Amino acid sequence: MSNHSQPRVAVIGGGVIGVSSAYHLARSGARVWLVTEGAFSSGASGRSLSWINSASGWSEHYHRFRMIAIDRYRTLFAHQPAQDWLRFDGGLMWQPPEKADALHEIHAYQLAHGYESHLLTAEQVADQVSGVDPAAIPAQGAIWNPGEGWVDLPSLINYLTEELIGYGAELITNAGKASVISHGGHVAKISIERHDAIGVDAVLVATGFGVPRLAAELGVTIPDATSTAMLIRTRPVETGLRAVLNTPRVSLRPAPDGGLAVDADWTTSHIDLRADGTYRVPAETIDELLAEASDALTGAPALSAAAYGIGPKPVPGDGEPVLGQLGGIEGLYVAFTHSGATLALIIGELLGYEIITGEQHPLLTPFRVSRFR
Ligand SMILES: Cc1cc2nc3c(=O)[nH]c(=O)nc-3n(C[C@H](O)[C@H](O)[C@H](O)COP(=O)(O)OP(=O)(O)OC[C@H]3O[C@@H](n4cnc5c(N)ncnc54)[C@H](O)[C@@H]3O)c2cc1C
Repeated sequence: MSNHSQPRVAVIGGGVIGVSSAYHLARSGARVWLVTEGAFSSGASGRSLSWINSASGWSEHYHRFRMIAIDRYRTLFAHQPAQDWLRFDGGLMWQPPEKADALHEIHAYQLAHGYESHLLTAEQVADQVSGVDPAAIPAQGAIWNPGEGWVDLPSLINYLTEELIGYGAELITNAGKASVISHGGHVAKISIERHDAIGVDAVLVATGFGVPRLAAELGVTIPDATSTAMLIRTRPVETGLRAVLNTPRVSLRPAPDGGLAVDADWTTSHIDLRADGTYRVPAETIDELLAEASDALTGAPALSAAAYGIGPKPVPGDGEPVLGQLGGIEGLYVAFTHSGATLALIIGELLGYEIITGEQHPLLTPFRVSRFR
């Protein structure tokens, strides 16, 4: 891919996808510059529930990809057993009483795919899943997925950036906007608002919800279903909860600092975008979400918000990742995905492979930009 013995690659975007890709590239021998607008984790990766799963009715190829993604986390977990930011303590999901059929359909899908899935009664939940109030479980029960987990993305990003420094990569934060400059149909350099331009052989654009905009500037359409989402982090609280909970009105999981991470789709309609680009959510919405979380937990503990983050949640229009070479410019790659917490390690590994070798990896075939033509 290069006239140089060591390929020179810039990765734009300091979220989990950019950082994981930079890590895998540097580990494979590339000279890497990781450039991001603000601080690491300042985008969606800093306000993610980060439930590691393949629970829903995905396409066959996407389910397989997610399962391989989970396997990479298990390897990391085996190598870093003492850390407190990656856990495989299971996931518990339930539906409202009127949606018993939907719950059974999910359970049947999971069983058919060999995804470990158990239908538990409220009594069994009380015995097997610590911290959950069995009174919250409806008559049809709840699905227990012991193989699921969660990751604290800012901690994972810290871990990977330390490794990156060890590989000699250059990390450029608070750089302002970076953009790609091509010459003769090939990537030539990246220009950076608050830094000198860098000449490179390849660029990976991993700018989260910004990817479709960049593609549009190059005449390539990537359908975009990005939404706005909020994540609350609570103050430390004694709950006994270890699993990820997905209930009809709230999703939550423990966090390394002893608090909880909490979100719910319904809060999106309560969020206002102000003229100055900041977001506003009523205090009652935060109170209501925390009350829903408390109701799911043993003893209904008082929960208070330590912080919350609101912003775009990148989602491709057809719900599947968009990965690999973009359009006709040689050396230009993109990564745009939802479920980026689950997928981060495998995406970084396989994009790193493609950029270094110039070969297309078969697992990425269904996720190419060209599918939208
Ligand atoms: C509330 C919420 C809940 C979620 N829950 C889950 C879940 O349970 N499971 C799961 O798997 N996933 C979940 N996700 C999704 C997951 O968090 C995201 O898919 C992932 O974090 C996206 O990472 P990213 O690196 O693509 O983007 P981001 O984290 O947004 O990073 C992009 C970075 O690029 C920088 N940037 C942008 N433009 C430029 C530019 N021109 N120049 C330089 N830098 C630039 C930004 O500043 C940002 O730091 C959730 C997300 C949210 C918001």
